Amino acid sequence: MEEKKEKECPWCQGSLILEESHYRGPHGKMKILRCGKCFKLISARLEGEPDGIIKRELLEGGSL
Ligand SMILES: [Zn+2]
Repeated sequence: MEEKKEKECPWCQGSLILEESHYRGPHGKMKILRCGKCFKLISARLEGEPDGIIKRELLEGGSL
């Protein structure tokens, strides 16, 4: 996989500074990552799972 030095926010195109927050959902405690500039959602995953696992079905299901 390609590794980027600096990530870009897909929403505001600024350099991505992640803001971490937590959310208790139906599947357990989730870690929510948002862009620190525009506060739009970047990723959401269950705590304890690797970063690569993004619970898209939760986002699409309207849980967030
Ligand atoms: Zn942003």
